[in-house]
Amino acid sequence: MTTPDELDRAVAEIAEAMRRRSDRGVVANYIPELGRVDPGAFGIAVVDANGHVATAGDADTPFSIQSISKVFTLTLALGKIGDRLWNRVGREPSGSAFNSIVQLEHERGIPRNPFINAGAIAVTDAILSGHQPREALGEILRFMQFLSDDPAVSIDEAVAASEQRTGFRNAALANYMKSFGVVENPVDFTLGVYFHHCAIAMSCRQLAMAGRFLAHGGLHPSTGFPVVQPERARRINAVMLTCGHYDGSGEFAYRVGLPGKSGVGGGILAVAPGRASVTVWSPGLDDTGNSHLGRIALEMLTKRLGWSVFG
Ligand code: GLU
Repeated sequence: MTTPDELDRAVAEIAEAMRRRSDRGVVANYIPELGRVDPGAFGIAVVDANGHVATAGDADTPFSIQSISKVFTLTLALGKIGDRLWNRVGREPSGSAFNSIVQLEHERGIPRNPFINAGAIAVTDAILSGHQPREALGEILRFMQFLSDDPAVSIDEAVAASEQRTGFRNAALANYMKSFGVVENPVDFTLGVYFHHCAIAMSCRQLAMAGRFLAHGGLHPSTGFPVVQPERARRINAVMLTCGHYDGSGEFAYRVGLPGKSGVGGGILAVAPGRASVTVWSPGLDDTGNSHLGRIALEMLTKRLGWSVFG
């Protein structure tokens, strides 16, 4: 059992080690607004099973959560249509880039998993069906506010607009899936909701709070509310472990040993089942599009505390 003191010390020392490193990866700029972020930023937040929160560095600075939002949209879509979701999206690692198009043609418009862009767009479409885009987006945002115990969580409209202007690949993926009926709603509506949920801005602290239900058998610790059944929490964690880092998922499992989901904003949410929910943020990415120092920091943390799910 890690004591609060040990945790505080580990988090402070890791943040200090990361501050001194000069290899910081490359900040994503294919969404122009993301390119404006300071590459020197680093934040970490860990919420343990007793609710103790250890933070260091820029843990309270909001950043663009991008693809980390896909964990929460998957949770909502499963809540809405249950296992029928798996008829329109698979759950196998893709072994290709986050925005890859080739696989989609081979697999007749059914994306490999809910965390590559095509899969996440199909999941967003499932949430949208029967609603107006504004309502669907409101539901996603309220879910994030509830899970993080923080009504201040909001969408960065500048990032959403920036991605809307430049999201040609995502538009190609959505249109292609529409031709197979995998996307049911007007493509513009589905993409609008997708771009906006990727543009939610949260701090490490808020995101680590939001991830707690996955570390604790589906329960929201502050209210005791069952967000999902334990079996579903376990399965979402399994998909995070196998698919959460695109073509870098194997390396992440090998080095960190926890279910995790990265975003091109440089954040990573990682889950240590029964122990803690963790978020790290460092905007520079490696060549698989995952936070370079974020992964290194998590590797240090799990090694030091013995938190790998593989023992
Ligand atoms: N909104 C980003 C995109 O669709 C998400 C990618 C990511 O975070 O990996 O390109």
